[in-house]
Amino acid sequence: MLALKNVDVFYGNIHALKRASLHVDAGEIVALIGANGAGKTTLLSAISGLARPGAGSIAFEGVEISRVSPDRIVRLGVSQAPERRLVFGPMAVEDNLLLGAYHRYGSAKKREIAADMDVMFDMFPVLRERRRQPAGTLSGGEQQMLAIGRALMARPKLLLLDEPGMGLAPAICKEIFRHIGALRKENGLTVLLVEQNARSALAVADRGYVLETGRIMLQGPSEELLANRDVQRAYLGRDKDQAA
Ligand code: ATP
Repeated sequence: MLALKNVDVFYGNIHALKRASLHVDAGEIVALIGANGAGKTTLLSAISGLARPGAGSIAFEGVEISRVSPDRIVRLGVSQAPERRLVFGPMAVEDNLLLGAYHRYGSAKKREIAADMDVMFDMFPVLRERRRQPAGTLSGGEQQMLAIGRALMARPKLLLLDEPGMGLAPAICKEIFRHIGALRKENGLTVLLVEQNARSALAVADRGYVLETGRIMLQGPSEELLANRDVQRAYLGRDKDQAA
């Protein structure tokens, strides 16, 4: 479904992504793990068209998208729930959800969009309770649910999730990851997931990639990465301490 080949991204003279290659097959959940500043968000931004690669190719369902505008990429079937959620605080929960479907306003019937919103409310019942409340008044976990719901309102084939567990209490984080697993199982959604919490990410993912200072250093099935000594030392140690 998605294939990146030798992608370079620069911010001025900062070389943030260095010949990065990865692929995601339809129906997979793939985790991208790495430390602060490794280039994880940059990689997602390159896919969604927000960062322009200096070199390399990005193909989505066989179409080269590395020079395509972000709004067209959404129409092709890729949507992103960004890091720190970035919900529109003063706007009501339901208006945030509606914005996720903005590119469908012209073509989809209002009823179809309203039905999709109901699906989101069934998935995240707390959002239904708070539908008229300003999004900025939601808790962190609720805002994360809203950010995922808003991305799903675009009816994506590929969902890009940037640190969905960030800043959330462990129980809420677990709940979010449970939803991510269910989205694949029940909706056949394909997910590329960026996380610093490597243990949670690899627990839900089929495969993973490890990014270090802009380079993909390691890749493999999640069980292999979880058992890998270097991954354990660099990315799982803290989680282990927390679990103890
Ligand atoms: P984190 O986990 O902290 O979000 P990350 O792995 O997502 O980090 P990126 O945000 O992709 O990392 O950043 C990769 C590198 O590019 C970092 O050195 C960062 O400082 C730099 N960078 C990111 N965005 C910009 C920008 N808009 N302008 C300049 N440098 C940037």
